[in-house]
Amino acid sequence: MILRATARLETPTAISQRRATGNDLDTLAFVPGTTLRGALAETCLRQGSAEDRTFATLFLEDQVRFGDLRLGGNARWPLSARWCRENPEHPLMDLLFLYGARELTPAGNKPDLEALLECQATAGRGGTCKAKMGYPGEGYYFLNSNQRYEAGNPDTRRVAHVEIDPGVLRSRNGRFHSASVLTRHQTFEGKIWASPEGAETLKKITGKGLPLWIGRGRSRGQGRITLWVDDDQGISTDEMEQQINTFNQAAVRAFSCFAGQVLFSCTLDSAAILFDEFLLSKDSVSAADIDPELEGYKLLTCFTRPVDIVGWNAGPRAQLPKPEVRAIAAGSCFLFAHEQTSDRKQQVRRVAEILTRVQNERLGERREEGHGEAAFCSEFHYQGAILP
Ligand SMILES: [Zn+2]
Repeated sequence: MILRATARLETPTAISQRRATGNDLDTLAFVPGTTLRGALAETCLRQGSAEDRTFATLFLEDQVRFGDLRLGGNARWPLSARWCRENPEHPLMDLLFLYGARELTPAGNKPDLEALLECQATAGRGGTCKAKMGYPGEGYYFLNSNQRYEAGNPDTRRVAHVEIDPGVLRSRNGRFHSASVLTRHQTFEGKIWASPEGAETLKKITGKGLPLWIGRGRSRGQGRITLWVDDDQGISTDEMEQQINTFNQAAVRAFSCFAGQVLFSCTLDSAAILFDEFLLSKDSVSAADIDPELEGYKLLTCFTRPVDIVGWNAGPRAQLPKPEVRAIAAGSCFLFAHEQTSDRKQQVRRVAEILTRVQNERLGERREEGHGEAAFCSEFHYQGAILP
């Protein structure tokens, strides 16, 4: 089952990814699934023990996979997205099809990428803008009411405090800290995958809203949130099949070389942890990582970046840092292709069945902490794009 988790920030909140260095700290712009899971585990342990049925269901038996929560449920800009450096109102562009098409085009006939990295919007007297196109950055996007993609990042502000000596109630010399915090009253949303028992247990303990503490600065009143969960729907196989078909039609309209191929994309909404046979972190997703049955699908192109995942253990091992692990960053995206077999409909249906399951249940390791959230054949790759 899929549940929607909503967290409202009741006070300013700061979530760190790294252990503190120096006197200035940043905050993450989202609530990692692992942070939510840790906060909930702590609350459960305060009210009961690790032997309780509730604790086992929520944390020990892979019955509940928490997801990252993002402002309004917004998605991370895919690494293939580009926008005008001078005027973000100009149409966006997405490079996934373009780079994929290059791979299928014979040498000598390849599209000119340099020219495409200039903004094509009309500006001035009938001319084009020609400003450089750049990656919109670390943030998030949403589709606004005019069906245009725009940036949707949480509000943050900078706060400062001095350390107080509890003995003399005076500030300690030289102990001045500043930090970025997410401002209060913002609402973050994400998905939780759960077994029927897991879903029922989670709904019971969150009720109409469960107060939790996340992040740093609790002694200064930071990080109080209210969490609640509602029923939601995952994607169905029919919807996925439709999505794959629309994606493929758009691809062929943009580049005729895609005709006769079955394409699908994978875009990571949260960092994915994948290991190879030697248990080393992988820096790319192959079709077989998504499902061994997709083995024959070739990775045409990808936009990817590594990220180090750090964190602290919650509960009985609280305060102990987890070992750092290398992951594939959120926003990374991949385009796969396979030649069409005689029965295209059947081929697409089989792919749809697999992708539906993976999109709902995620891929890779540590899925219970929110890793490996992926969207397949995301509209962004063709809707927000100007294509030649
Ligand atoms: Zn422009």
